[in-house]
Amino acid sequence: LPTVVIIGRPNVGKSALFNRLIRRREALVYNTPTDHVTRDIREGVAKLGNLRFKVLDSAGLEAEASSGSVLRRTAEMTGNVLSRSQLALFLVDARDGLQPMDLDVGKWLRKNAPGMKTIVVMNKAESLDDYDGSLAAAVGESYTLGFGDPIALSAETGMGMAELHETLRPLLEEYVLQNVNDDESQENDSSEDMECKLPLQLAIVGRPNVGKSTLLNTILQEDRVLVGPEAGLTRDSIRAEFEYQGRTIYLVDTAGWLERTKQDKGPASLSIMQSRKHLMRAHIIALVLDAEEIAKARRSMKHAEVVIARRAVEEGRGLVVIVNKMDLLRGEENSKLYKRVIEAVPAEIQTVIPQVTGIPVVFVSALEGKGRMAVMRQVVETYEKWCLRLPTARLNRWLRKVMSRHSWKDQAAQPKIKYFTQVKARPPTFIAFMSGKTQLSETDLRFLTRSLKEDFDLGGIPVRILQRTVE
Ligand code: GDP
Repeated sequence: LPTVVIIGRPNVGKSALFNRLIRRREALVYNTPTDHVTRDIREGVAKLGNLRFKVLDSAGLEAEASSGSVLRRTAEMTGNVLSRSQLALFLVDARDGLQPMDLDVGKWLRKNAPGMKTIVVMNKAESLDDYDGSLAAAVGESYTLGFGDPIALSAETGMGMAELHETLRPLLEEYVLQNVNDDESQENDSSEDMECKLPLQLAIVGRPNVGKSTLLNTILQEDRVLVGPEAGLTRDSIRAEFEYQGRTIYLVDTAGWLERTKQDKGPASLSIMQSRKHLMRAHIIALVLDAEEIAKARRSMKHAEVVIARRAVEEGRGLVVIVNKMDLLRGEENSKLYKRVIEAVPAEIQTVIPQVTGIPVVFVSALEGKGRMAVMRQVVETYEKWCLRLPTARLNRWLRKVMSRHSWKDQAAQPKIKYFTQVKARPPTFIAFMSGKTQLSETDLRFLTRSLKEDFDLGGIPVRILQRTVE
């Protein structure tokens, strides 16, 4: 969830706004020792219309402000609060008008969080109105803080909360999208640490007869799926649930999917639709290829297989490629073929899906019951990468390093990223907040994506970087 911090001098109503945003939800209170003084920071999950975000109410900043040393000794608070936030609500008292201390808070914010989007919130505005000009006057004054359009509201009565919602919505739109996505909304409701503990949904896909059902049996270690020589015997999606190293895994067999090319119409279409739906619900897609066919053919992947692999990646799924029937390439006479298959498949996958490097490839023989461990290890590893969350402070430290070790031919062309943050996991998605008119070019994006993958070991899964312009 994105984090919004409420900032302001004492008595402007920070806690009232905090309480309204989190409603009756529990707030987490933890202590931050600064200069041997313990200060509380309250943290809660805010719900505002369809928006959900983390909200921080920092009494610590207030203490700094009231002690008159706003601009000093704030390093630790900065570390704890500002670096964790993507957005600040700068609260002022609409009735009192701006106080010198408000100006101090503004200066402090600019200095300590230069790239942070800040919204001035004029609280206690319920008694002001347009008729006597008091509201207009207060708004005019708030503009002088230099953070753009202020919002007038009343944390006490709830007046103006809709405007706050309207203002926050576009800024948090990435998260809204995430919350609207019905399949994933429940998952995203849980806390970040929980994300990776959710049941892993695995789809095993491939053309008929590559050995999906056999592999499924190996993985489940029991005969649950019919295996036979006829193509497409397992017409329906079969779901199974099992435990692997303490992790719950849902297995979705989508035998029908790749038969689409052959049977676009007809009785199979219903199950194909089903398969397709299941497929895109899966977190990890295991694409099974047939080693014997690869050995015979010039290319490792048939058109339908390329389509599915690309599609999985485009839809942000984790992809694991399994080359089955390796037993058929055993023996002296096949040693060349064996070697060729092992080398050709990863290379060819890289060529057809250049946007994702390091897609894992596992070579198995389902018939011999071999490969369960290898397959599951890759599946779980890929899933863990897919769920990864990188803290903002760490990302920004990383960004500074990466930018400094890269040189741009034209110094002026160097993109100015003010701030870099991960907006979601599953798959990892990042936002680069760009300063002024600079934009990340395709080359810059590729460079950053590659660096992210290398430095945080994110190979094999789709990683997305979005960009937003900030003033
Ligand atoms: P599906 O259509 O992809 O589910 O394929 P099946 O699991 O039904 O397997 C099709 C045929 O390939 C069956 O005759 C299996 O016995 C055979 N098969 C599956 N895995 C292997 C393997 O690892 N090695 C060999 N030699 N044959 C296999």
